[in-house]
Amino acid sequence: MKANSNLSILRLLARLGAGFDIVSGGELQRVAEASGKIKSKVVFSGVGKLSPEIDLALRSGIMLFNVESASEMELLAARATHLRKSASFAVRVNPDVATETHPYISTGLHQHKFGVPWRDAAALYRRGAENRYLKPSGVSVHIGSQITDVAPFGEAMDRVASLASSLRAEGYDIRFVDAGGGLGIQYEHTPEVNFAKQAKQYAKALLKPLKGLGMHLLLEPGRAIVGPAGALLTRVIYRKRNNGKQFVVVDAAMNDLLRPSLYGAYHEIVPVVLQKDRATETVDVVGPVCESGDFLARDRELLTVQEGELLAILDAGAYGMSLASNYNSRPRPAEVLVDGKRVRLIRRRESIRELLAPEST
Ligand SMILES: *Cc1c(COP(=O)(O)O)cnc(C)c1O
Repeated sequence: MKANSNLSILRLLARLGAGFDIVSGGELQRVAEASGKIKSKVVFSGVGKLSPEIDLALRSGIMLFNVESASEMELLAARATHLRKSASFAVRVNPDVATETHPYISTGLHQHKFGVPWRDAAALYRRGAENRYLKPSGVSVHIGSQITDVAPFGEAMDRVASLASSLRAEGYDIRFVDAGGGLGIQYEHTPEVNFAKQAKQYAKALLKPLKGLGMHLLLEPGRAIVGPAGALLTRVIYRKRNNGKQFVVVDAAMNDLLRPSLYGAYHEIVPVVLQKDRATETVDVVGPVCESGDFLARDRELLTVQEGELLAILDAGAYGMSLASNYNSRPRPAEVLVDGKRVRLIRRRESIRELLAPEST
C-alpha cells in the first residue's frame, strides 16, 4: 500500500485478486473504502502500531499481524483480550542479511529498527501463544526495497523456512510465510533490462528453501507492481544558465517526487513530444522549491527541451504520490489513470483553499 495508495489503484488491484500490506490504520481505512470485502486479505506490518490501529485491525478481522517486538505482542494480546477478538500473528524476523540498496531502504540488518532478531523469534512465538486469542500462524520477513540481486532474498528465506519448520515441530500451526516486498525495478532504461528474467530468479530464490513445506506464500511487491506504471508530467517553466551550468526549471518539485532528493534516485526524463534529430545537452532538472536539494535530475544528458514543453519523469508510480507533500504550500498534482485509450481522473488537483482549511488564524 505504501508504494501507491490511490483508491482507484487499490480497487483495480483488489479486482485482480490482490490483498494488501498495510502499515497504518489510515491504510486500513483506505482498503475498506476501496473494497470492503478485502479486509480478510490484509497483512499489518510496522514497528509502531498504535492501540487504536490494532483495535481497528482486530475488528476488521485482518489476515495477519506482523509483530515486530515483545512490547507490541503484549499490546496485541491485551487488545485482543479486551475486544474478545482472535488474531493470527507472524513475527517479522530480522534475518541479518545485507542488501545492496540505498541505506534508507535497507531493513534486514540487525542495526535496523525492523523485525525481531531471528534467533530470538521462537521465544516471542511462545509468549504470544500463551494468550488464548492469539494464534501463531506465520513467519514474516522484509529485507528492504529496490533490491536487484536475488541472493539476499534466498538467504533470508533460508532462515525463515528453518524457523517455520522448528515452530511447526513445537506444535504451532504455521501456514503462512510472508516474504515481504523489495523486488527492484530498472530505473535506468538500459537495453539489457530484463525484468521477467529477474522476477523468475526471484521466484526461484524464494521457493527453493520452501520446497516441501506446503506453506501459503504471501508476497508484498509494491514498487515492482506500480513503479513502472506511472509517469509524472511536468512543464518546463524556464531555462537558465549559471556560470556555464544549464538548468531546466520545471513546475514539478521534490514535494511531488521526493525520491531524487531523498535517495539520490535516478528517474529517466523524456520530452512528451517525440521529435527526430533532437540534440542532447547536460542539464540539472530542478523544481521551484526553495532547497538546493530540490532536483529531479543532476548532470543529466537529456534531449534538448524548450520552455513550455512537457516532460515525462518515468517510473514514478511507486513512492511518488504516496511520498508527496505540501512543502512550500504547493498543492499536490492530479492523478490520471490511463488504460489504452481510456483516461480517467482518479484524484483531482488539490486547491490552496483545501490546504489552508484545517488551520485557524
Ligand atoms: C515497503 C514494504 C513493502 C514493499 O516494498 P517494495 O520495495 O515496494 O516492494 C513490503 N512489505 C513491507 C513490510 C514494507 O515495509
